[in-house]
Amino acid sequence: MDKKIWLSSPHMGGKERDFVSEAFDTNWIAPLGPNVNGFESDIQSYLDAEVHVAALSSGTAAIHLGLQLLGVESGDEVICQSFTFSASANPILYLSAIPVFVDSEKDTWNMCPTLLEEAIRDRISKGKKPKAIIAVHLYGMPYKVDEINAVAKKYAIPVLEDSAEALGSTYKGVKCGTFADISILSFNGNKIITTSGGGALVSHQKEDKEKAIFFSTQSRDNAPHYQHSEIGYNYRMSNVLAGIGRGQMLVLDTRVAARRNNYKRYFDALSPKKEFTFLDEPQESFSNRWLSCLLTSSYNIRENIRLKLEKENIETRPLWKPMHLQPVFSKYPSYVNGTSEALFNKGLCLPSGSNLTEDDVSKVIYHIKNCLENA
Ligand SMILES: *Cc1c(COP(=O)(O)O)cnc(C)c1O
Repeated sequence: MDKKIWLSSPHMGGKERDFVSEAFDTNWIAPLGPNVNGFESDIQSYLDAEVHVAALSSGTAAIHLGLQLLGVESGDEVICQSFTFSASANPILYLSAIPVFVDSEKDTWNMCPTLLEEAIRDRISKGKKPKAIIAVHLYGMPYKVDEINAVAKKYAIPVLEDSAEALGSTYKGVKCGTFADISILSFNGNKIITTSGGGALVSHQKEDKEKAIFFSTQSRDNAPHYQHSEIGYNYRMSNVLAGIGRGQMLVLDTRVAARRNNYKRYFDALSPKKEFTFLDEPQESFSNRWLSCLLTSSYNIRENIRLKLEKENIETRPLWKPMHLQPVFSKYPSYVNGTSEALFNKGLCLPSGSNLTEDDVSKVIYHIKNCLENA
């Protein structure tokens, strides 16, 4: 059997070990230390905006603390993009709040601004104004930032920008992760860069960073003994993992270039086939192409390709199953237009790692073409 071709696997740059060794040599093995501060300032410089970054144990933890900073409490409603990974929505339930799902538009596959406004008006007419909006740059493609922000502003509802998949993407030349009251990043093993597990909360307000660090380190009051006036969490990133992150930041731009190159190869080879389409970048957007997504003309074609590639030891995955169709979330309110459901039924994420070889990508393309011809 040939070696497995993965969907998206970690890709070290080489310098990570130096930062990790330094943590060992100086005995900074705790969830604080110079790598944590260094990683935060590396991210801040990269985002190239007046933002403050708190490094945390995961992107999910960042969403949890972000919603708390936005004042979400038990019983509140929070609007969330339906077409996403469950980690965007789970923290709403951690806070005993109620998710309200909104479907996507076709230009970016992200939250539809028109449907968002309909949802907000309908929730308000039912006596509940949503407390926050979670918008997601799915697969690295920026959502319609201006349109979503305009609706949010009109109704004075804060936005939490889920940029877990979009580090390195830009909208109108500005980096994703800087467009909202609170933004979050993920450094999970399958993301564009990784700390093996980790995340960050990004805010334009210095106090948000300070509060995020406070909550993430068990909410200790300023006292010589351990005293707590608020419930805390153990969500801070460790100094060892932040060392991996510092090494990864050195190669982030080359990782983005490699993923975009994968996408271009798939696009050039497969887009001439009438059965296939790809999501073009809108003119104002630059996508990191975290995952290359192939949209087929039918469920059967998608499944044929998926099963064939599986036999060839090539990992692929259907596009995200929308939250409003998930067993655990289907009982919550949703505003849908069919877009995300169709994408789920006909779309396939292709191997997309920055460490794929030219031959790996050629092999994937070969088998996909073959599948179509033999159908
Ligand atoms: C990965 C991901 C998260 C969660 O990040 P973790 O670091 O894995 O907790 C949240 N939202 C989206 C869209 C993601 O892809």
